Amino acid sequence: MSKVVAIVGRPNVGKSTLFNRFIGERRAIVDDVSGVTRDRHYGVAEWIGKEFVIVDTGGYVANSSDFFEAEIRKQVDFAIQEADLLLFMVDVVVGITDEDEDFARVLRRSKKHVLVVANKVDNFDQATEASVFYRFGFEEMFTLSSVNGSGTGELLDRVIEVLNIDEEKPEENPLPKFAILGRPNVGKSTLLNVLVGEERNIVSPVPGTTRDTIHTHYNKFGKEFLLIDTAGLRKKGKVTDDIEFYSVMRAIKAMEEADVMILVVDAVEGMEAQDTNIFVLAAKRRKGIVILVNKWDLIAKDNKTMETYLKTIHEKIAPFTDVPVIFVSALDKTRIFKAVDVAMEVYENRRKRIPTHELNEFLLKVIENYPPPSVKGKFIKIKYVTQLHSNTPAFALFCNHPQYIRESYTRYLENKLREQFNFQGVPIAMFFR
Ligand code: GDP
Ligand code: GDP
Repeated sequence: MSKVVAIVGRPNVGKSTLFNRFIGERRAIVDDVSGVTRDRHYGVAEWIGKEFVIVDTGGYVANSSDFFEAEIRKQVDFAIQEADLLLFMVDVVVGITDEDEDFARVLRRSKKHVLVVANKVDNFDQATEASVFYRFGFEEMFTLSSVNGSGTGELLDRVIEVLNIDEEKPEENPLPKFAILGRPNVGKSTLLNVLVGEERNIVSPVPGTTRDTIHTHYNKFGKEFLLIDTAGLRKKGKVTDDIEFYSVMRAIKAMEEADVMILVVDAVEGMEAQDTNIFVLAAKRRKGIVILVNKWDLIAKDNKTMETYLKTIHEKIAPFTDVPVIFVSALDKTRIFKAVDVAMEVYENRRKRIPTHELNEFLLKVIENYPPPSVKGKFIKIKYVTQLHSNTPAFALFCNHPQYIRESYTRYLENKLREQFNFQGVPIAMFFR
C-alpha cells in the first residue's frame, strides 16, 4: 500500500513546481473541481527505488478572505484524513505572511508529521533567511529550490525515511485483488451489486488495509477473490466537491492495493480524458487492466459497432493496447461474469513466469531473424534473456550496448513476447543490461 504525501501551503509558494519535479515524466491525475478551487493533482513519485503518492492540494480563488479559512480547512482536512506526511511549503523571498501563519496554526493542531519546506532558496545566501520559519514551531525544515532542484534530494531522503516504506510485509496466501474504478455514474455500484448482491451468505465485508477501502470476499462458481470497494462508491445522491475530491484519492488507493484494475467506462460517453489518465497510471504501476464498456444496452448496434468502438479505445490507450475490452451491461447483467473470468485470466497472466530456457529459445530466434539496427556502426548483440523475480512481468536482456536499443525495438520484442506467451492485460517491463 502506497504512502501518501501532501504538499500544502498558500498559493504561489511553488507547490506545483515541486510536485512536477517529484513526478518527473509521469502523468498526473487531475481532479478539476471547477470554479471553486484550482485543480488538484495526484501522481506517483519515486526516489531510490521507493515509491509514494504525492498530492498537490491546489490553491484557492484569491481576493476572498472569508473563503481562505475554509480553504485551509479543506486542505488540512484532506491532509489529516489521507496523507501520511505533510510538506508545508513557504517562500523564502516573501517571508512569513498572515496566510502562512494561518496554515501553520491549523497544521500544528492536526498533529500530523509536518516538514517545513522553505522554497525559492535559489542560492546559498538565501538559506540563512529561511531560519525565520522556525518560528512556526515545527522541528524539521528543509531549504530548497523547486526551480533548479537543489535541496530536493535531502528532502526526498527524509520523506522516504519518515514514510518507512519498507515496513510492508507480504501476505500469506494472497487472494487475487480486483478494484473497480471509473468516473461517477458509469455503473460501478450497479456492477458491484450484481456481483455480490445475490450471494449474501458467502459474501462478507473484510476491512481493507486502509481505512477507506472495504474488501469484499467473493467466492462463487469456483472463483475466489477480493473486490476492493472504495467507501464512497456506494453512496448515492448528490456528489459534492469534497466527496468527489476524496473519491479520486480513494480510487488511487484502491488501485494501489489491487492486482487487477477493472476500469469501467460509460458506453454512451466513451472513454474520456480522466479514464485515460487512470489507465495510464495503472499501466505505470504495472497493474493488470480490464476495460469494461458498460451500459452497452443503450448503444444502437450493427455488426460493426463493437469493432469501431474498440478501435477508438485503442487509439486512446496506445501504445499499450493488449488489454481486454468487454462490452457489458450491469443493468441487464450481460457478460458480467465473463468480465470476472477475464479479470481472473489477467491476474494469472500477471503472475506468469516463463522458464528461462523457453524464453531464450523463443526470443533469441526472434532477435536473430530481426536484430536490433546498428547504431553509429556498432552492432548490438543480445545474448541472454531472463525474467526477473518481480511481482509483475519484467525481463532483463543482456547485451553489449544496452544504451543503443531503441524504443521501437523494445516494443517489437514486447509484442513478440505477448504473441507467444499471452500477457493480455498486463504491462511488461523490459530492461537492457
Ligand atoms: P503554487 O501556487 O504554490 O503551486 O506555486 P507554483 O508552483 O505555481 O509557483 C509559483 C511561482 O513561483 C511560479 O512563477 C514559479 O516559477 C515560482 N517558483 C517556484 N519554485 C521556485 C523556486 O524554487 N525559485 C524561484 N525563484 N521561483 C520559484
Ligand atoms: P457509479 O456512480 O459508477 O457507482 O454508477 P451507478 O452504479 O450508481 O450507476 C449510475 C446510473 O447508471 C444508475 O442510474 C444506473 O441504474 C445506471 N446504469 C448502471 N449500469 C447500467 C447499464 O448497464 N445500463 C444502463 N442503461 N444503465 C446503467
